[in-house]
Amino acid sequence: MPSVLIAGGGLAGLSAAAALGGAGFDVDLFEARPFLGGRATSYQIPGLEEDSAETIDNCQHLLLRCCVNLLDFYERLGVRDRIRFHREVYFLEPGGRLSVLRRGRLPAPFHFAGSFLRMRCLGRADKIAIARALWAIRRERAQGAPCRTDLDRISMLDWLLQKRQTPRAIDRFWRQILVSAVNEDLDRMAAVHGLQVFYLGFLARTDSYELGIPTVPLAELYGANAWQRLANVRFHLRSSVERIDGAGFTVAGERRAADHYICALPFERLPAVGLPAPAFDHSPITGVHLWFDREVTTLPHATLLGRTMQWMFNKDRGRYLQLVVSASRDLTGVPRNEIVDIAIGDLRLYFPRVQEANLVKAHVVKEQRATFSAAPGTESLRPTAQSGPPNVFLAGDWTRTGWPATMEGAVRSGYLAAEAVAQRASRPARFLLPDLT
Ligand SMILES: Cc1cc2nc3c(=O)[nH]c(=O)nc-3n(C[C@H](O)[C@H](O)[C@H](O)COP(=O)(O)OP(=O)(O)OC[C@H]3O[C@@H](n4cnc5c(N)ncnc54)[C@H](O)[C@@H]3O)c2cc1C
Repeated sequence: MPSVLIAGGGLAGLSAAAALGGAGFDVDLFEARPFLGGRATSYQIPGLEEDSAETIDNCQHLLLRCCVNLLDFYERLGVRDRIRFHREVYFLEPGGRLSVLRRGRLPAPFHFAGSFLRMRCLGRADKIAIARALWAIRRERAQGAPCRTDLDRISMLDWLLQKRQTPRAIDRFWRQILVSAVNEDLDRMAAVHGLQVFYLGFLARTDSYELGIPTVPLAELYGANAWQRLANVRFHLRSSVERIDGAGFTVAGERRAADHYICALPFERLPAVGLPAPAFDHSPITGVHLWFDREVTTLPHATLLGRTMQWMFNKDRGRYLQLVVSASRDLTGVPRNEIVDIAIGDLRLYFPRVQEANLVKAHVVKEQRATFSAAPGTESLRPTAQSGPPNVFLAGDWTRTGWPATMEGAVRSGYLAAEAVAQRASRPARFLLPDLT
C-alpha cells in the first residue's frame, strides 16, 4: 500500500492517520512533543499529597452531539463510550438563580420551546427577539449552505443588531454560548460561524445541542491501546519535523521519503518548516483549575452569566472545578494569582458554599495561541487540503473545514487531507461525514 508521512500529532494529524491507517495505508506520524493530542491533551502537575502527581486536561474540552466527525474518530479508536452527554444546559446568575435549557417532546426546531419559555434569566422581550433571530438563522442558512453572501464579511454582533436583539438577549444568550463555541468576541467573530453553531447545535436536530464531556483525561482517548487495531500506523514522538516539501520531511537532520505527505501543524509553525502561513490572528483561552477542601456545588457544569469566568465544569465531586474564559484577551497581562482571586470572587457569587470552603490548590493555564481568530474576512483565506505544494496536503483546525477552530474542525481537516491523499493514490475513499441537516 502507498506510504504517508504526517507531521503533527494533534487531532488533525491523528484523524488523518486513523482514516488512512484504516484504509490500509502505511502511515508514519511525527510529533514534536512526547505525547499525542496537541492542544486537546492532558499532562501531569504535582498532586495534593507530597510526591504525588495529578493528570489534568490543559483545558476542559467540550463537544456537541453535532460533532459527527469527532465522534466518528472516537469510534475508530474505540473510545466513543468515554464521552458522557448531558441534556441540560445550566445558565447561572450571580446570586445563584438557575435557568435550564433542555429539549422537550416537540420536534426540531421547537424542541426547546418549553424550557426556553421558563428561562428566568431572560425576559419576555428578550425571548421574542431570540425566537425571531433563530427563525432568521433557519431562513438564512437554508439546507446547510448560507444563502446570504455577506455572512463572512459582517460580525455576529452586526447580525444580531440587524435582528433587533435586546442587550440582555445578546449578553445572556448569544454571547454566553457563542464566545465559548467560536472562541471570539461577538464584535470580532464573523457572523457565518455564529449562524453555523446555532443552526447545527440548536436547530438541526433535537439532540444535536447535547454537551459531550470526556469522562477520562483527554490524553487517554488517544492512548496506545486505541491504536492496536491499526498496526500500520507508527508514531514517532519527540520528533520535530524541520522541513516539509513535495520530496519528503527532514527530521533530526535526516531526510524521510514516502509516497505522500500531510502537514498537520498549527499555522504559525508553517514558516519554520519552509511553508507559507496565512496571516491569521490568534485568540486566547484561559483555564482556571481550583481544588477546594469540600464540595461547593452539585451542578455538573454551568455557564456563568455576567462575570469574568464564563463556564464552570465540576471535575470531581464538587471539590475540583475547572473554569474557562474564552477570547480571554483581558486576562493576558493579569498575573496568575490575580486570576485565581478573580475566579474565587466570581464563584462566591454563584455558589455560596465557596464562602466557607478553603482553596487547597489552584492552577492557571493561559493559552495565548489557543485558536485562530474567526474574524470577518478570514473564512475565504483559509486554505484547503490541496493548497500546499504538490503532494503535500494541509490539515489543521485553521484550514477550510466549514467549522470554527474546534476539535470537530480539526478532525474534519484530517479526514479531508486523508481523502485528498487517497485520491492522489488512485484509491478514492470517503472519510468525511456530512453535517447534520
Ligand atoms: C485552552 C483550549 C481550550 C479549547 N477548548 C475547546 C473545546 O472545548 N472544544 C473544542 O472543540 N475545541 C476546543 N479547543 C480547540 C481545539 O483544541 C483545537 O481546535 C484542536 O485541538 C486543534 O487540533 P490540530 O490538530 O489542528 O492542532 P494541534 O492540536 O495544535 O496539533 C498540532 C501538533 O503539531 C505538533 N507540532 C508542532 N510543530 C511540530 C513540528 N515541527 N514537528 C512535529 N510536530 C509538531 C504540536 O506539538 C501539536 O501536537 C480548545 C483549545 C484550547 C487551546
